[in-house]
Amino acid sequence: ADTEKAAPAAVLDPSTPVEQRVDELMSRMTLADKIGQMTQAERAGVTPDQVTEYRLGSVLSGGGSAPDDNTPAGWADMYDAYQRGALATPLKIPMLYGVDAVHGNNNVPGSTIFPHNIGLGATRDPDLVQRIGAATAEEVTGAGPDWTFAPCLCVARDDRWGRTYESFGEDPAIASSMTTVITGLQDGPAPVLATAKHYLGDGGTTGGDDQGNTELSEAELRRIHLPPFQAAVDRGVGTVMISFSSWNGVKAHGNRFLITDLLKTELGFTGFTVSDWAGIDQIDGQPGFTRAEVVAAVNAGLDMLMVPENWTTFLDDLRVAVEAGEIPMSRIDDANRRILTQKFRLGLFEKPYADRAFTRTVGSAEHRELARQAVRESQVLLKNTGVLPLAKSGGKIFVAGKSADDIGNQSGGWTLTWQGASGAIVDGTTILDGIRDTAGTGTTVTYDRSGAGIDGTYRAAIAVIGETPYAEYEGDRPGGLGLDTEDRQVLAKLRAAGVPVIVVLVSGRPMDVASLVDGWDAFVAAWLPGSEGAGVADVLFGDYAPTGRLPMTWPASSAQEPINTGDGKAGLYAYGYGLSFDDREADAAPPSSPGTPSATASKLRWMAATDTGGSGLDGYDVLRDGALVGTTVATSLSITKLSPGVHEFTVVARDKAGNRSAPSSPLVVTVPDPGGCKTRDGVCVVT
Ligand code: BGC
Repeated sequence: ADTEKAAPAAVLDPSTPVEQRVDELMSRMTLADKIGQMTQAERAGVTPDQVTEYRLGSVLSGGGSAPDDNTPAGWADMYDAYQRGALATPLKIPMLYGVDAVHGNNNVPGSTIFPHNIGLGATRDPDLVQRIGAATAEEVTGAGPDWTFAPCLCVARDDRWGRTYESFGEDPAIASSMTTVITGLQDGPAPVLATAKHYLGDGGTTGGDDQGNTELSEAELRRIHLPPFQAAVDRGVGTVMISFSSWNGVKAHGNRFLITDLLKTELGFTGFTVSDWAGIDQIDGQPGFTRAEVVAAVNAGLDMLMVPENWTTFLDDLRVAVEAGEIPMSRIDDANRRILTQKFRLGLFEKPYADRAFTRTVGSAEHRELARQAVRESQVLLKNTGVLPLAKSGGKIFVAGKSADDIGNQSGGWTLTWQGASGAIVDGTTILDGIRDTAGTGTTVTYDRSGAGIDGTYRAAIAVIGETPYAEYEGDRPGGLGLDTEDRQVLAKLRAAGVPVIVVLVSGRPMDVASLVDGWDAFVAAWLPGSEGAGVADVLFGDYAPTGRLPMTWPASSAQEPINTGDGKAGLYAYGYGLSFDDREADAAPPSSPGTPSATASKLRWMAATDTGGSGLDGYDVLRDGALVGTTVATSLSITKLSPGVHEFTVVARDKAGNRSAPSSPLVVTVPDPGGCKTRDGVCVVT
């Protein structure tokens, strides 16, 4: 029978060390308390009274699931009702409330909607992204929730994947650098728990199949998909969400090596893991979950399970499994220790209720200005014959296309609802609004979605085209990424008028445009900019000179997929490509090759490359046995700690426009077996 005692003073005293508070609390917890902590139910399927009765550790809103009063105040009231339920339990352990605030507090009307991650990757500005994290945390806090299932640290390798826009880029280094968002979310004045997701290999599935199979050697899995998670752990991320995907045929949710050995033991992750939405159901490939799946997931190292349906059955299964010895009590205790530690760290025991002081930050002018700056920095100028920047000096400009006046299209999936939607669904400015405001008083702006009415009297035509909103597998495009009929018809109409055509592509990923781009005078990748469309106009009219660089290789055709290899594979535009206004079309010339490297002591050295394209040299990529091992602006790189054997080094130069040189001739380095190895400061050096 439960012997229940209330939490002692030491647990509630914030000056007591967290470890001790956790120990004191755990010594009073029953099995019912502990399995409750490990369970996360979905808002629509759980009442505050049930949170009390079943001692649930967490509640979520899945995919925008909102209260009837869908306002910040309505959310805060809902949050408080669930929290009152949690605090009515004998030990008064507060619950965590999780939401997908993946580009701002995107579930709540009135919030600032920031660009999706693919656009943030294009900014190459980790400091900006940290500030976005802090702003998002304020807006989330003002509406109640204390936990967001963000950031997605997926390294998207195939543009056909429906979650490509949730990725900061194809190179693990970009996602690693953007883990500053975690610091912004967790360590500001309104701390919100962050989630690094989806662990591991979600962006590497064969064919870009969402929730599919990532077929890679362990070495490649570590090289491509693991670094952002190490960076997140180093920043103290509170939670990690396990991926729906499989690695070489085995679902991550049941993979003890990935969750316990690699993430917790090797990477040193001390936060807690959470399953994805009904993720345990997928372990055996059959619908629903069985006790065997519950056992497999928890023993693999899952600490909290997101169980949107049948969570009472889950609680029963978990209890029976523990009582039957199928899950050791030590595992249950470890999970609880991890969950409670995060709750203490977050300050939840001191401030369990919604902090309404932050409600006024929701959609604030300051946050919208930050979002507009993010939009400016995320624009990637891919082509310009000189038509951009547009002068603000009178004449007529024609604007057309399905995304010119559509804030829903700008925002993409995960906006108010899971899939997002076209139309005026959130507050802010459309790209057309921005163009009208920025064009200058003497300029006439004419808009027609279909392009009807365009003629030769306009000084330029702007086509804003691309993708309509989608999320997850609904956005998978195994058949390729061509423009739809409406976009093609608009383009044809504008071209027929004989005026310069500027194309702004609003999309979650590169699309198939190679056959059309010759007919365009300028081409801007706007990604999914969110609620501040004015930032796009700032670039078109030259109030901000573009600085964005491609976070993904732009394929010449979908037949080249998977093309996002992170090593500058040739497409229509290389990874890292992006013009500014001065570049016009000039900088297509790659830098010279760095020659043949040489190795002296523990350093690899090579010749300085020269850039004739005009953008200037940006640096060098060093590859060992075909894999990137370092980037540097110097003409040398330290190559200590080499494992014994034969290694082949090559160097590639990069210019600021993203062009890459031909690789240097390889240098073969033989490192003798440890027996014959010369050491300096304890490491094997090359001589
Ligand atoms: C997605 C996650 C998300 C979760 C909760 C799942 O379908 O894969 O990214 O956090 O739903 O909404």
